[in-house]
Order: sequence, then structure tokens, then C-alpha cells
Amino acid sequence: MYYTSFNSYLKNRYKGRIQKISIDAGFTCPNRDGTKASGGCTFCNNVAFSPYAMTKKTVQNQIEKSIEFYKKRYKSIKGFLAYFQAYTNTYAPVDKLKDLYDKALEYEEIIGISIGTRPDTVPDEVLDLIATYTVEKPEIWIEYGLQTANPKTLRNINRAHGVAEFIDAVLRTKKRPHIKICAHLIVGLPGDEYEDYIESAKLIASLPIDGIKIHPLHIVKHTVMEKQYKNGEINLLSMEEYAKIVADMFEYLPKDIIVHRLTGEAPEEELIAPSWCSPKKKQGVLKQIQDAFKAKRATQKLVIV
Ligand code: SF4
Repeated sequence: MYYTSFNSYLKNRYKGRIQKISIDAGFTCPNRDGTKASGGCTFCNNVAFSPYAMTKKTVQNQIEKSIEFYKKRYKSIKGFLAYFQAYTNTYAPVDKLKDLYDKALEYEEIIGISIGTRPDTVPDEVLDLIATYTVEKPEIWIEYGLQTANPKTLRNINRAHGVAEFIDAVLRTKKRPHIKICAHLIVGLPGDEYEDYIESAKLIASLPIDGIKIHPLHIVKHTVMEKQYKNGEINLLSMEEYAKIVADMFEYLPKDIIVHRLTGEAPEEELIAPSWCSPKKKQGVLKQIQDAFKAKRATQKLVIV
């Protein structure tokens, strides 16, 4: 089996390093402000929603600082991808979104944008706007958080959207075929079992999805899950269990899916558990996943993000 990491996909396509630049454009989330629900997803760090935590820097300022930094660090850099990462990056009127996306795409070095959002926050007019960018820029991605295909778990983690909304968002997005879609899954959510991870992989495989990010559940401070974990209500996976599940999920995912991420971590000062989700352990987790693939007699080495 052979899997393509997002980095290697970009490197092959653009013949050099493409650097992702994370942007906080000052969005909030409809799952926090009462529009969809209140309180947010139970794994989401509430402190991050304090208005004081929102960036005061403009999109241009963040992009220019990052371009300067990465150009000094990597001499062979070929371009940049602006990643609208923080919160729900389609949660604003279309003219406001256009203004923010335009600001990122006006730089020649920016080859595209990646927009992280919820599947219930992408009306057709927003998709139409995003599709206009595909005419001039080659990498226009939307990243949809699904997290799990188990509707009961979605309710329990206060996700405030269902599986059907995810399917609807993907199908409506692909009516604009040049927009690429990345789906996010979390492995280890309370209530989910092995069959749910496989079901999630099968759902992704059944839809026109170009890329995937898989994270292990990790508990961070100032979340509902922090309290649940401390009350003994949540059992976390071991690194070995996680790696094996990920390897099993890939038996069902399309061979050409682009792997944006296979693990996730939080800064040590924010992380409650498990300790293997700290940045220092990332390479160890990826090695464990490689070993899990080898144990399944993968015929080719997994290329890891
Ligand atoms: S995880 Fe995403 S959808 Fe959930 S509360 Fe946080 S920003 Fe909103």
C-alpha cells in the first residue's frame, strides 16, 4: 500500500517546498455563540474563545511575517498556502469572507488557501465565492470537521451537527469540482468503538473527498472533557491502540487520498492527557503508526506528513 502525505503531494506538484501558513482571521464559532448551540464541542478549548485570545493582527500582517520567517528558514521554498485555521472560517457574511480571502490570495507567492470550517456553515453562496478562486489559484481546499460517523457520539460531544449535514456539505462542495475537500476525524471519542472508526473510514471512502486528517483524542485544559476526564468518565487510547486503529482504517480509505495529518498534539502547558500527544512525542507516534502498517504487511512504506 502507498499513501501520499500532503507535503509530498505539494512537493511533487510544485517541485519544491510549499509552506502552510496558519491564520487567525478573527472568526468565532456558531457552536459557541448560541446560533447552533452553546458551550462548543466538549473537546474544544473554551479559553480560546475569549475575545482577548483573538488575534489583533491583520491577515496581511500574519502572512507577511510568516513569509519573511519561512523564506529565511528554507532557502528552497516555492510558495505558500494560507490556512484559515482558527474557529469556523466561513462564519461571516459573504462580502466579509471575500475581503478576508482576497487579502490572503493577493500575494503572488500564495498558491491557494485552505479553509477550516463546520459542515453546517457553508451556504451555497459561500461555496460559489470559494469556487471563484479556483480559476487563478491551484490549491483551494475546504476542511470539514466530521470527527466521527456515529451520530450518538456527535450528540454527546455537543457537536451540534449530524452526519447528514457533513454528507450534504461534501456533495454541494463537489458541485464546484475544483474545490478540494479534506475531512477531519478524531479517534477515541467517548462512546465510539472500533466499529465506529471503521464506519467513519468507510463513509469518507464513499464520498468525493480528496484528503484526510486523523487525530487521536487528547484532553486539553479549559474544556468540558477536562472535567469528564478528571471525573473518570473518559478512557483514552494508548499510542499502540491508536496506531493499530489508524492502520486498520486505511484498509478502507481510497488509495489516492492525501494524508494531511495522522496524529495531533497540544502544547505541554495545555495538554492534560495522554502524554504521548505532546509535540515531543510526535515522531514516536508516527513511527508507531508506521510499525502498525508494517505489521499489516504493507508492501510500501507509508509517507508521513
Ligand atoms: S471544535 Fe470547531 S466547531 Fe467545535 S466549538 Fe470548537 S471551533 Fe466550534
